[in-house]
Amino acid sequence: MSKPAVLLLNPPGDKLYIRDYYCSFSSKASYYWPPQDLLALSGLLDADFDVRVLDAIIPKRTPEDVLAAAADPALRAVVFTTGTATLKGDLALMDKIRAARPDLKIAASAGIMKFIGRELLDRNVALDAVLLDFSDSGLAAWLAGTEPPLRGMIIRTPAGLVEGPLSTAREFSYPVPRHDLFPFRRYRLPIARRFPFTVVVTSLGCPYHCGFCTAGAFGYKVRAVDNVLEELKALTALGVREILFQDPTFTIATKRVVEICRGIIEAGLDLSWSCNADLHALDEDKMAWMKKAGCHTVSVGIESGSDEMLTKYSKPITVDEIRAKAARLNAHKIKILGYFILGLPGETRESAEATIALARSLKLDIASFSVATPDLGTRLREEAVAKGWIPAGASFWDSSEFPVLETGGLGKEEIWALRQKAMRSFYLRPLYIARKLWEVRSLRGLQILASNALSLFRK
Ligand code: SF4
Repeated sequence: MSKPAVLLLNPPGDKLYIRDYYCSFSSKASYYWPPQDLLALSGLLDADFDVRVLDAIIPKRTPEDVLAAAADPALRAVVFTTGTATLKGDLALMDKIRAARPDLKIAASAGIMKFIGRELLDRNVALDAVLLDFSDSGLAAWLAGTEPPLRGMIIRTPAGLVEGPLSTAREFSYPVPRHDLFPFRRYRLPIARRFPFTVVVTSLGCPYHCGFCTAGAFGYKVRAVDNVLEELKALTALGVREILFQDPTFTIATKRVVEICRGIIEAGLDLSWSCNADLHALDEDKMAWMKKAGCHTVSVGIESGSDEMLTKYSKPITVDEIRAKAARLNAHKIKILGYFILGLPGETRESAEATIALARSLKLDIASFSVATPDLGTRLREEAVAKGWIPAGASFWDSSEFPVLETGGLGKEEIWALRQKAMRSFYLRPLYIARKLWEVRSLRGLQILASNALSLFRK
């Protein structure tokens, strides 16, 4: 007997949207990677379902294409990923699917479901369920007809909404995701050394609680090292050559990082990779192992050039430590992508200028300047609502677009002008341009560099 079909959907959009579980935004430098929740679900559902994947962002698909895919009578359910940047449009598409297929089960996945899942189900009759933890087994059970409560889900029932328990285990595993169903040959990352590239997750949430970041609200749990290595081996066999470890912070625990690195080396996996790292937790041991195991770049949240701002938002690092750790990464020949935030409440022209100066003074490969957005689940959002800067129910924005916060300090226009200034003063340095051109090794590399450069300055 054939297995029931389930469609894992990354909904279409008018921009290159990245729905990245904890946050969603439009890609400004033509980079693109797959949604980590849909990847994990493809493996979790594979044994019992005919898993179909429609990433409608790349290659670009229309709502009509999605409706055509949903019309297949063999389809039992649609599970879509979403985020604050696209929630309205995604829900409107689900209304259309529901109108065409009243029999389908429809479930939403995204980090924001932890905060607004119940409310969304109350307000949107098209939705049958939301996922609170994509790494858990509740979805497969629900699709198989098991009665709620089910782990990691809120489900609509005739008797009302039923919320299942969340796992409290510190470690998790899941079957190897069906990367072959995703258009992985089209994913792009400016820092990637090789292609094809894709994303792997080794931990969820973050043990820190930076005031502007939602990851700390999810607790912290880690994926079994053997389970991670099993996925890396499968990816190597599939021909993937580059990995982005897309954990909020891959580098928290030295023992785990070393075990994963040692596993990559001992298995002889031909992979180059990058990861999100926490500068404070990066020590000499980790840096050395990471470099040996193929790590060429770390993406680190530097956030601000002002100790006052770092302290105010509980970022566990000082400007001096940032300088010292960045120098050690340079010494290990690991490149750095630095993330900065401009326009947090309390920001002054001086602190913003200090941030721009810090970005220029560090030897960074890439710098990303975003504007402060009051994401669901953050202390910044609580502050913004309490002070009346945003309405309590507001939840639609894109962190790479024009500021949404008017904090009484710097105005939105000033923050945006500072962000544009930061971009220009970082990227338009003759030395930086010369270094980038010197590093280009192929025609493809030149094309990516030109495309990234153009898109970086597009409004
Ligand atoms: S360390 Fe990074 S991922 Fe963790 S809460 Fe802070 S900004 Fe978020």
